[in-house]
Amino acid sequence: MSDKTFGFETLSVHAGAAPDPATGARALPIYQTTAYVFEDADHAAALFNLQTVGFIYSRLTNPTNAALEARLATLEGGRGCTVASSGHAAQVLALFPLMQPGAEIVASSRLYGGSLQQMKNTYPKFGWKAEIVDADVPENFKRAVTENTKAFFIESLANPGGVVSDIEAIARIAEASGVPLLVDNTLATPYLCKPIDYGATLIVHSTTKFLSGTGTSMGGAVVDSGKFDWSRGGKFPSLAGPEPAYHGLNFYETFGDMAYTFHSHAVGLRDLGPSQAPFNAWLTMLGIETLGLRMERHCANAAKVALHLEKHPAVAWVNYAGLPSNKYNKLAQKYLPKGAGSVFTFGVKGGYDVGVKVVDGVELFSHLANIGDAKSLIIHPASTTHRQLSDEQRVAAGAGPDVLRLSIGIETVEDIIADLDQALAKATA
Ligand SMILES: *Cc1c(COP(=O)(O)O)cnc(C)c1O
Repeated sequence: MSDKTFGFETLSVHAGAAPDPATGARALPIYQTTAYVFEDADHAAALFNLQTVGFIYSRLTNPTNAALEARLATLEGGRGCTVASSGHAAQVLALFPLMQPGAEIVASSRLYGGSLQQMKNTYPKFGWKAEIVDADVPENFKRAVTENTKAFFIESLANPGGVVSDIEAIARIAEASGVPLLVDNTLATPYLCKPIDYGATLIVHSTTKFLSGTGTSMGGAVVDSGKFDWSRGGKFPSLAGPEPAYHGLNFYETFGDMAYTFHSHAVGLRDLGPSQAPFNAWLTMLGIETLGLRMERHCANAAKVALHLEKHPAVAWVNYAGLPSNKYNKLAQKYLPKGAGSVFTFGVKGGYDVGVKVVDGVELFSHLANIGDAKSLIIHPASTTHRQLSDEQRVAAGAGPDVLRLSIGIETVEDIIADLDQALAKATA
Protein backbone atom coordinates (compact mmCIF):
# COMPACT_ATOMS: atom_id res chain seq x y z
CA MET A 1 0.00 0.00 0.00
CA SER A 2 2.13 2.90 -1.19
CA ASP A 3 -0.47 4.58 -3.39
CA LYS A 4 0.04 8.31 -3.08
CA THR A 5 -3.62 8.98 -3.86
CA PHE A 6 -4.74 7.83 -0.39
CA GLY A 7 -5.33 10.46 2.29
CA PHE A 8 -3.30 10.88 5.46
CA GLU A 9 -5.86 9.16 7.71
CA THR A 10 -6.13 6.16 5.36
CA LEU A 11 -2.35 5.78 5.24
CA SER A 12 -2.15 6.13 9.05
CA VAL A 13 -4.36 3.04 9.36
CA HIS A 14 -3.04 0.96 6.46
CA ALA A 15 0.49 1.89 5.35
CA GLY A 16 3.03 -0.83 6.11
CA ALA A 17 0.48 -3.31 7.53
CA ALA A 18 -1.36 -5.57 5.09
CA PRO A 19 -3.01 -8.74 6.47
CA ASP A 20 -0.39 -11.30 7.50
CA PRO A 21 0.26 -13.51 4.43
CA ALA A 22 1.04 -16.59 6.55
CA THR A 23 -2.06 -16.62 8.79
CA GLY A 24 -4.47 -13.96 7.53
CA ALA A 25 -4.22 -12.16 10.87
CA ARG A 26 -5.63 -8.67 10.25
CA ALA A 27 -3.74 -6.99 13.07
CA LEU A 28 0.01 -6.64 12.71
CA PRO A 29 1.76 -9.58 14.42
CA ILE A 30 4.42 -8.89 17.04
CA TYR A 31 7.45 -10.74 15.74
CA GLN A 32 8.98 -11.45 19.11
CA THR A 33 12.05 -13.18 17.71
CA THR A 34 15.76 -12.51 17.84
CA ALA A 35 16.80 -14.29 14.64
CA TYR A 36 15.47 -15.73 11.35
CA VAL A 37 16.24 -19.11 9.76
CA PHE A 38 18.16 -18.91 6.48
CA GLU A 39 16.84 -20.89 3.47
CA ASP A 40 20.34 -22.21 2.74
CA ALA A 41 23.99 -21.14 2.77
CA ASP A 42 23.61 -19.09 -0.44
CA HIS A 43 20.63 -17.21 1.00
CA ALA A 44 22.59 -16.46 4.17
CA ALA A 45 25.55 -15.17 2.17
CA ALA A 46 23.31 -12.98 -0.01
CA LEU A 47 21.66 -11.48 3.10
CA PHE A 48 25.01 -10.64 4.67
CA ASN A 49 26.21 -9.12 1.37
CA LEU A 50 23.05 -6.95 1.23
CA GLN A 51 22.35 -8.56 -2.17
CA THR A 52 18.91 -9.62 -1.01
CA VAL A 53 16.65 -7.84 1.44
CA GLY A 54 15.49 -9.91 4.41
CA PHE A 55 15.83 -10.57 8.07
CA ILE A 56 18.99 -11.74 9.85
CA TYR A 57 18.95 -10.60 13.47
CA SER A 58 16.56 -8.24 15.27
CA ARG A 59 19.26 -5.73 16.24
CA LEU A 60 19.31 -4.84 12.51
CA THR A 61 15.80 -5.56 11.25
CA ASN A 62 12.53 -7.05 12.51
CA PRO A 63 9.23 -7.44 10.60
CA THR A 64 7.14 -5.52 13.20
CA ASN A 65 9.69 -2.71 13.21
CA ALA A 66 9.79 -2.82 9.41
CA ALA A 67 6.02 -2.21 9.31
CA LEU A 68 6.45 0.88 11.52
CA GLU A 69 9.34 2.04 9.33
CA ALA A 70 7.23 1.72 6.19
CA ARG A 71 4.33 3.59 7.81
CA LEU A 72 6.47 6.49 9.07
CA ALA A 73 8.32 6.83 5.75
CA THR A 74 4.94 6.99 3.97
CA LEU A 75 3.40 9.53 6.37
CA GLU A 76 6.44 11.83 6.19
CA GLY A 77 6.67 11.53 2.40
CA GLY A 78 10.13 9.97 2.72
CA ARG A 79 11.96 7.12 1.00
CA GLY A 80 13.09 5.04 3.97
CA CYS A 81 13.01 4.92 7.75
CA THR A 82 14.95 3.39 10.63
CA VAL A 83 13.37 3.05 14.06
CA ALA A 84 15.38 3.25 17.27
CA SER A 85 14.94 2.61 20.97
CA SER A 86 14.22 6.27 21.84
CA GLY A 87 14.15 9.73 20.33
CA HIS A 88 17.63 10.44 21.64
CA ALA A 89 18.96 7.20 20.15
CA ALA A 90 17.39 8.23 16.83
CA GLN A 91 19.27 11.54 16.92
CA VAL A 92 22.65 9.81 17.33
CA LEU A 93 21.68 7.25 14.68
CA ALA A 94 20.61 10.07 12.32
CA LEU A 95 23.94 11.89 12.55
CA PHE A 96 26.14 8.79 12.64
CA PRO A 97 26.44 8.23 8.83
CA LEU A 98 27.31 11.92 8.33
CA MET A 99 29.83 12.47 11.09
CA GLN A 100 33.43 11.70 12.02
CA PRO A 101 35.80 13.16 14.62
CA GLY A 102 36.17 16.90 13.91
CA ALA A 103 32.82 17.12 12.13
CA GLU A 104 30.34 19.82 13.10
CA ILE A 105 26.62 20.47 12.99
CA VAL A 106 24.79 23.78 13.31
CA ALA A 107 21.77 23.49 15.61
CA SER A 108 18.98 25.75 16.78
CA SER A 109 19.17 27.11 20.34
CA ARG A 110 15.42 26.40 20.64
CA LEU A 111 15.71 22.62 20.77
CA TYR A 112 14.27 20.34 23.44
CA GLY A 113 16.56 20.73 26.50
CA GLY A 114 17.59 17.08 26.40
CA SER A 115 18.75 17.45 22.80
CA LEU A 116 20.89 20.50 23.63
CA GLN A 117 22.33 18.57 26.56
CA GLN A 118 23.18 15.63 24.25
CA MET A 119 24.84 17.96 21.75
CA LYS A 120 26.80 20.02 24.28
CA ASN A 121 27.99 17.28 26.64
CA THR A 122 28.02 13.97 24.80
CA TYR A 123 28.75 14.75 21.13
CA PRO A 124 32.21 16.15 22.08
CA LYS A 125 33.07 12.68 23.42
CA PHE A 126 32.65 11.40 19.83
CA GLY A 127 34.73 14.32 18.52
CA TRP A 128 31.54 15.93 17.14
CA LYS A 129 30.86 19.61 17.67
CA ALA A 130 27.50 21.39 17.74
CA GLU A 131 27.43 25.11 16.98
CA ILE A 132 24.25 26.46 18.59
CA VAL A 133 22.58 29.44 16.88
CA ASP A 134 19.38 31.47 17.23
CA ALA A 135 17.17 29.96 14.51
CA ASP A 136 14.81 32.96 14.50
CA VAL A 137 17.37 34.49 12.12
CA PRO A 138 17.95 31.82 9.42
CA GLU A 139 21.08 33.68 8.22
CA ASN A 140 22.73 32.62 11.49
CA PHE A 141 23.07 29.12 10.02
CA LYS A 142 24.99 30.46 7.03
CA ARG A 143 27.34 32.41 9.30
CA ALA A 144 28.10 29.31 11.40
CA VAL A 145 29.02 27.03 8.45
CA THR A 146 32.65 25.86 8.23
CA GLU A 147 34.31 23.35 5.91
CA ASN A 148 33.63 20.71 8.59
CA THR A 149 29.86 21.33 8.79
CA LYS A 150 27.89 18.17 7.97
CA ALA A 151 24.29 19.06 8.87
CA PHE A 152 21.81 21.59 10.23
CA PHE A 153 19.45 20.55 13.04
CA ILE A 154 16.15 22.24 13.96
CA GLU A 155 12.74 21.40 15.42
CA SER A 156 9.70 22.21 13.26
CA LEU A 157 7.72 23.15 16.38
CA ALA A 158 10.03 23.41 19.35
CA ASN A 159 9.54 21.75 22.72
CA PRO A 160 8.38 23.49 24.93
CA GLY A 161 6.33 25.01 22.19
CA GLY A 162 5.58 28.48 21.00
CA VAL A 163 8.61 28.46 18.67
CA VAL A 164 8.16 27.64 14.96
CA SER A 165 11.18 27.38 12.66
CA ASP A 166 11.22 28.84 9.14
CA ILE A 167 11.95 25.42 7.63
CA GLU A 168 11.96 26.57 3.99
CA ALA A 169 14.42 29.44 4.59
CA ILE A 170 16.79 27.23 6.61
CA ALA A 171 16.50 24.40 4.03
CA ARG A 172 17.58 26.83 1.29
CA ILE A 173 20.70 27.76 3.27
CA ALA A 174 21.43 24.07 3.93
CA GLU A 175 21.13 23.34 0.20
CA ALA A 176 23.46 26.24 -0.66
CA SER A 177 25.94 24.96 1.95
CA GLY A 178 25.83 21.39 0.59
CA VAL A 179 24.56 19.85 3.83
CA PRO A 180 21.31 18.07 4.78
CA LEU A 181 18.72 19.73 7.02
CA LEU A 182 17.58 17.48 9.89
CA VAL A 183 14.22 18.34 11.40
CA ASP A 184 12.96 16.97 14.70
CA ASN A 185 9.23 16.70 13.91
CA THR A 186 8.18 15.22 17.27
CA LEU A 187 5.80 17.97 18.41
CA ALA A 188 4.18 18.60 15.04
CA THR A 189 3.97 14.99 13.80
CA PRO A 190 3.48 14.49 10.04
CA TYR A 191 -0.24 15.19 10.57
CA LEU A 192 0.49 18.87 11.25
CA CYS A 193 3.69 19.37 9.22
CA LYS A 194 5.70 17.47 6.62
CA PRO A 195 9.15 19.13 6.61
CA ILE A 196 10.29 17.18 3.52
CA ASP A 197 7.78 19.25 1.50
CA TYR A 198 9.79 22.34 2.51
CA GLY A 199 13.22 20.94 1.65
CA ALA A 200 14.23 18.98 4.76
CA THR A 201 16.45 15.93 4.04
CA LEU A 202 16.10 13.90 7.26
CA ILE A 203 13.33 13.78 9.86
CA VAL A 204 13.85 12.55 13.41
CA HIS A 205 11.12 11.62 15.87
CA SER A 206 10.67 10.74 19.46
CA THR A 207 7.80 8.31 18.76
CA THR A 208 7.47 8.19 22.57
CA LYS A 209 5.23 11.27 22.32
CA PHE A 210 2.26 11.87 19.98
CA LEU A 211 2.96 8.99 17.57
CA SER A 212 2.56 6.26 20.19
CA GLY A 213 0.17 8.71 21.81
CA THR A 214 -0.74 7.16 25.14
CA GLY A 215 2.45 7.36 27.16
CA THR A 216 3.26 3.66 26.97
CA SER A 217 6.30 3.17 24.73
CA MET A 218 9.74 4.65 24.26
CA GLY A 219 10.85 4.88 20.65
CA GLY A 220 12.50 6.98 17.98
CA ALA A 221 12.73 7.12 14.20
CA VAL A 222 14.83 8.59 11.39
CA VAL A 223 13.12 9.16 8.03
CA ASP A 224 15.21 9.88 4.93
CA SER A 225 13.70 11.88 2.07
CA GLY A 226 15.93 10.00 -0.38
CA LYS A 227 16.59 13.32 -2.13
CA PHE A 228 20.10 14.22 -1.00
CA ASP A 229 23.09 13.62 -3.28
CA TRP A 230 25.55 12.09 -0.80
CA SER A 231 28.40 12.21 -3.32
CA ARG A 232 28.23 16.01 -3.45
CA GLY A 233 31.49 17.68 -2.47
CA GLY A 234 33.05 14.52 -1.00
CA LYS A 235 31.63 15.50 2.40
CA PHE A 236 30.05 12.15 3.27
CA PRO A 237 32.62 9.37 2.76
CA SER A 238 30.69 6.83 4.88
CA LEU A 239 27.77 7.04 2.46
CA ALA A 240 29.44 7.80 -0.87
CA GLY A 241 32.91 6.35 -0.50
CA PRO A 242 34.21 2.87 0.30
CA GLU A 243 32.79 2.25 3.83
CA PRO A 244 35.44 0.37 5.84
CA ALA A 245 32.72 -0.60 8.36
CA TYR A 246 31.06 -2.66 5.59
CA HIS A 247 33.93 -4.27 3.66
CA GLY A 248 34.44 -1.19 1.49
CA LEU A 249 30.87 -1.07 0.12
CA ASN A 250 29.88 2.26 -1.47
CA PHE A 251 26.30 2.59 -0.21
CA TYR A 252 25.32 5.50 -2.47
CA GLU A 253 26.60 3.82 -5.63
CA THR A 254 24.94 0.53 -4.68
CA PHE A 255 21.60 1.62 -3.19
CA GLY A 256 21.00 5.15 -4.55
CA ASP A 257 18.12 6.83 -2.72
CA MET A 258 18.03 4.00 -0.14
CA ALA A 259 21.76 4.41 0.73
CA TYR A 260 21.17 6.33 3.94
CA THR A 261 18.49 3.93 5.26
CA PHE A 262 20.54 0.82 4.38
CA HIS A 263 23.58 2.33 6.09
CA SER A 264 21.51 3.14 9.21
CA HIS A 265 20.51 -0.52 9.54
CA ALA A 266 23.62 -2.31 8.28
CA VAL A 267 26.15 -0.11 10.10
CA GLY A 268 24.30 2.22 12.51
CA LEU A 269 22.02 -0.27 14.25
CA ARG A 270 24.54 -3.07 13.83
CA ASP A 271 27.38 -1.23 15.59
CA LEU A 272 25.60 1.19 17.93
CA GLY A 273 22.77 -1.22 18.78
CA PRO A 274 19.86 1.04 19.86
CA SER A 275 17.15 -1.18 18.33
CA GLN A 276 13.48 -0.70 19.14
CA ALA A 277 11.64 -3.52 20.91
CA PRO A 278 9.06 -5.05 18.52
CA PHE A 279 6.37 -4.69 21.20
CA ASN A 280 7.01 -0.94 21.33
CA ALA A 281 6.86 -0.78 17.53
CA TRP A 282 3.53 -2.63 17.67
CA LEU A 283 2.09 -0.23 20.27
CA THR A 284 3.31 2.71 18.19
CA MET A 285 1.65 1.28 15.06
CA LEU A 286 -1.58 1.04 17.05
CA GLY A 287 -1.16 4.63 18.22
CA ILE A 288 -0.59 5.95 14.70
CA GLU A 289 -3.92 4.49 13.55
CA THR A 290 -5.63 7.31 15.51
CA LEU A 291 -2.98 10.00 15.00
CA GLY A 292 -5.15 12.30 12.88
CA LEU A 293 -8.14 12.08 15.21
CA ARG A 294 -6.01 12.66 18.28
CA MET A 295 -4.03 15.57 16.83
CA GLU A 296 -7.25 17.27 15.75
CA ARG A 297 -8.57 17.10 19.32
CA HIS A 298 -5.16 17.89 20.93
CA CYS A 299 -4.92 21.07 18.83
CA ALA A 300 -8.55 22.16 19.30
CA ASN A 301 -8.29 21.68 23.07
CA ALA A 302 -4.90 23.44 23.28
CA ALA A 303 -6.20 26.46 21.34
CA LYS A 304 -9.17 26.80 23.73
CA VAL A 305 -7.01 26.40 26.84
CA ALA A 306 -4.44 28.93 25.55
CA LEU A 307 -7.17 31.51 24.83
CA HIS A 308 -8.68 30.93 28.28
CA LEU A 309 -5.31 31.29 30.06
CA GLU A 310 -4.45 34.45 28.11
CA LYS A 311 -7.46 36.14 29.74
CA HIS A 312 -6.92 34.61 33.21
CA PRO A 313 -6.10 37.17 35.95
CA ALA A 314 -3.48 34.87 37.59
CA VAL A 315 -1.59 34.38 34.29
CA ALA A 316 1.18 36.77 33.19
CA TRP A 317 1.71 35.47 29.63
CA VAL A 318 0.98 32.53 27.31
CA ASN A 319 3.43 31.22 24.67
CA TYR A 320 1.33 29.34 22.12
CA ALA A 321 2.04 29.75 18.40
CA GLY A 322 -1.65 29.24 17.64
CA LEU A 323 -2.60 32.51 19.38
CA PRO A 324 -2.96 35.49 17.00
CA SER A 325 -0.91 37.56 19.49
CA ASN A 326 2.06 35.15 19.27
CA LYS A 327 5.34 36.15 17.61
CA TYR A 328 5.41 32.85 15.67
CA ASN A 329 1.76 32.91 14.57
CA LYS A 330 2.58 33.79 10.94
CA LEU A 331 5.06 30.91 10.67
CA ALA A 332 2.52 28.63 12.36
CA GLN A 333 -0.10 29.55 9.75
CA LYS A 334 2.34 28.60 7.00
CA TYR A 335 3.86 25.42 8.45
CA LEU A 336 1.10 24.21 10.82
CA PRO A 337 -2.17 25.18 9.12
CA LYS A 338 -4.13 22.41 10.89
CA GLY A 339 -3.08 23.54 14.39
CA ALA A 340 -0.08 24.59 16.46
CA GLY A 341 0.19 21.38 18.46
CA SER A 342 -0.73 20.94 22.11
CA VAL A 343 2.48 21.64 24.04
CA PHE A 344 3.03 25.17 25.29
CA THR A 345 4.18 27.26 28.22
CA PHE A 346 2.57 29.97 30.30
CA GLY A 347 3.76 32.17 33.14
CA VAL A 348 2.02 32.57 36.50
CA LYS A 349 2.01 35.85 38.40
CA GLY A 350 3.88 35.23 41.67
CA GLY A 351 6.78 33.21 40.22
CA TYR A 352 8.32 30.04 41.63
CA ASP A 353 6.08 29.59 44.69
CA VAL A 354 2.86 29.90 42.73
CA GLY A 355 4.24 27.62 39.95
CA VAL A 356 4.98 24.85 42.44
CA LYS A 357 1.54 25.24 44.05
CA VAL A 358 -0.18 24.89 40.67
CA VAL A 359 1.48 21.53 39.93
CA ASP A 360 0.57 20.39 43.46
CA GLY A 361 -3.00 21.62 43.01
CA VAL A 362 -4.01 19.94 39.74
CA GLU A 363 -6.29 16.91 39.92
CA LEU A 364 -7.02 15.87 36.32
CA PHE A 365 -3.58 16.87 34.97
CA SER A 366 -0.65 14.58 35.77
CA HIS A 367 2.52 16.22 37.11
CA LEU A 368 5.27 14.44 35.18
CA ALA A 369 8.09 14.79 32.63
CA ASN A 370 6.51 13.74 29.35
CA ILE A 371 4.43 15.21 26.52
CA GLY A 372 2.13 13.88 23.80
CA ASP A 373 -0.03 11.63 25.96
CA ALA A 374 -3.82 11.41 25.51
CA LYS A 375 -3.87 12.59 29.15
CA SER A 376 -3.22 16.23 30.03
CA LEU A 377 0.22 16.74 31.56
CA ILE A 378 1.89 19.58 33.46
CA ILE A 379 5.41 20.32 34.71
CA HIS A 380 7.18 23.23 36.42
CA PRO A 381 10.58 23.15 34.64
CA ALA A 382 12.44 25.37 37.17
CA SER A 383 11.87 22.85 39.98
CA THR A 384 12.34 19.72 37.85
CA THR A 385 13.88 19.34 34.35
CA HIS A 386 15.88 22.59 34.60
CA ARG A 387 16.70 22.62 38.32
CA GLN A 388 20.46 22.01 37.83
CA LEU A 389 20.81 25.28 35.90
CA SER A 390 21.54 28.74 37.32
CA ASP A 391 18.71 31.31 37.46
CA GLU A 392 20.13 33.09 34.39
CA GLN A 393 20.51 29.83 32.43
CA ARG A 394 16.94 28.87 33.32
CA VAL A 395 15.55 32.16 32.01
CA ALA A 396 17.64 31.84 28.81
CA ALA A 397 16.24 28.32 28.28
CA GLY A 398 12.66 29.58 28.65
CA ALA A 399 12.38 27.83 32.02
CA GLY A 400 12.22 30.82 34.36
CA PRO A 401 10.72 30.52 37.88
CA ASP A 402 7.18 31.44 36.72
CA VAL A 403 7.02 29.02 33.74
CA LEU A 404 4.64 26.05 33.55
CA ARG A 405 4.62 23.64 30.60
CA LEU A 406 1.41 22.00 29.51
CA SER A 407 0.76 19.09 27.17
CA ILE A 408 -2.97 19.30 26.55
CA GLY A 409 -4.68 15.92 26.23
CA ILE A 410 -7.80 14.78 24.44
CA GLU A 411 -10.19 14.91 27.43
CA THR A 412 -13.34 17.08 27.46
CA VAL A 413 -11.96 20.61 27.18
CA GLU A 414 -14.25 22.06 29.87
CA ASP A 415 -12.77 19.58 32.35
CA ILE A 416 -9.22 20.55 31.41
CA ILE A 417 -9.99 24.26 31.85
CA ALA A 418 -11.84 23.69 35.14
CA ASP A 419 -8.86 21.78 36.57
CA LEU A 420 -6.42 24.58 35.69
CA ASP A 421 -8.85 27.18 37.09
CA GLN A 422 -9.18 25.43 40.44
CA ALA A 423 -5.39 24.85 40.69
CA LEU A 424 -4.67 28.52 39.88
CA ALA A 425 -7.31 29.64 42.41
CA LYS A 426 -5.80 27.48 45.17
CA ALA A 427 -2.25 28.56 44.28
CA THR A 428 -3.04 32.28 44.42
CA ALA A 429 -5.51 32.21 47.36
C1 LIG B 1 11.20 13.78 24.07
C2 LIG B 1 11.88 14.45 22.94
C3 LIG B 1 13.10 13.95 22.45
C4 LIG B 1 13.79 12.75 23.06
O1 LIG B 1 13.03 11.61 22.87
P1 LIG B 1 13.07 10.32 23.84
O2 LIG B 1 12.12 9.40 23.20
O3 LIG B 1 12.64 10.82 25.20
O4 LIG B 1 14.48 9.86 23.85
C5 LIG B 1 13.67 14.58 21.36
N1 LIG B 1 13.10 15.66 20.80
C6 LIG B 1 11.94 16.18 21.26
C7 LIG B 1 11.36 17.37 20.59
C8 LIG B 1 11.29 15.59 22.33
O5 LIG B 1 10.14 16.11 22.78
